[in-house]
Amino acid sequence: MKDILLGGIEAGGTKFCCAVGDGEGNIVNETVIPTGHPDVTLPKVIEYFAAVHDKTPLSAIGIASFGPVELNRDSEFYGFTTTPPKPGWKMFDFAGTLRKAFGLPVGFNTDVNAAALGEFRWGAAAGLDTFIYITIGTGIGGGGMVAGNLMHGLIHPEMGHILIPHNRLRDPFNGVCPYHGNCLEGLASGPSIQKRWGIEKASDLPPGHPGWELEADYLAHAFACYALMISPKRIIAGGGVMKTPGLIEMIRPRVRKLLNGYVKHEMILEKIDEYIVPPGLGDRAGACGALALAERAYIKGR
Ligand code: ADP
Ligand code: ZN
Repeated sequence: MKDILLGGIEAGGTKFCCAVGDGEGNIVNETVIPTGHPDVTLPKVIEYFAAVHDKTPLSAIGIASFGPVELNRDSEFYGFTTTPPKPGWKMFDFAGTLRKAFGLPVGFNTDVNAAALGEFRWGAAAGLDTFIYITIGTGIGGGGMVAGNLMHGLIHPEMGHILIPHNRLRDPFNGVCPYHGNCLEGLASGPSIQKRWGIEKASDLPPGHPGWELEADYLAHAFACYALMISPKRIIAGGGVMKTPGLIEMIRPRVRKLLNGYVKHEMILEKIDEYIVPPGLGDRAGACGALALAERAYIKGR
C-alpha cells in the first residue's frame, strides 16, 4: 500500500519522534518534540500532523507509546496511558485525543509491540508469525507476536523484569530496578552498566572489559528463557546497548550453551546467527513501528 500517507508517533519518556510515511515503511518527513506535560506536547504533535494533513490527507495515525498503557479494547480506558510517573500522563486519553483531533483511525500499542510490528511488516520478522522484539536501552522491554497476534494478555508482557541468576560474588552490584533491584533490567539495562562501572554512558565501557562478559551472560539467560517459554521463531534485539560492537556475537553461543542441546531445532543448533538478530530496520524500528500501527488501524478502519 504505497499510495497512502500515514502518521506515526514514537512516544518516549524524553522525546516524541513524529513521522510521516507511506504504506511501505518509507519515512518522508519527521520531527522531534520533547516529552512534556500532555497539555503542552499534544498540541505540538497535532500541529505537526495538521500541517501535513492539510496538504495531503493522512489515512491513519499510529501511536507507539511508553507505558504503562491500557490496551484492552473492552475497557473504557482503552488508548490511555495509565500510571506513568510523568506529570499529566496518569489516565491520559492519548489515542482519543488524536482521534478527536483528526477523525482518523488511530492505532495504539506499546513501543516494543509497535517495533515488533514494524519488523514484521518491513524488517527482520517478515513472514514470521511468532517472534519477539526486545530492546535493551534505558529500560529493557519486550513485545512481539504469538501466532500472528501482537502479544497482550492480562496486561502487556514485561520481559525486562524477569529474575535471572545473580552471583553476588562475581557481581556484588545490587541492580537499579526500583521495584526488584536485581531483575534483568536492574542488572543489564544501560543505566545499570553506567552505575555498576561508574561511567556516564554504557558505550564508555571499553571493548574487552569483563563487564561485557557479564552483560552477555545476563542477556543470554534472558534470551534462553524467552526461547523456552515463548518458542519465538526469531529474537530481534535492539536498543542502545545492543549497538555495542561484538555484543550480539557474545550472546549467541551463550544462549546455545545454556539450552544445552535440549531445544532440538536447527535455528538454535546450527543457525543461531539467524535466530538472534539486530533489528532489520535499525534505528527506524521505532518510527516504522508507529507507521505499521497506523497502517493496521487504517486496514481495520478503527
Ligand atoms: P531509550 O531506551 O531511552 O529509548 P536507547 O535505546 O538509546 O534509548 O538506550 C539508551 C541507553 O543505551 C543508555 O544507557 C546508553 O548509555 C546506551 N547506549 C546508547 N548508545 C550506545 C552504544 N552505541 N553502545 C553502548 N551503549 C549505548
Ligand atoms: Zn524490575
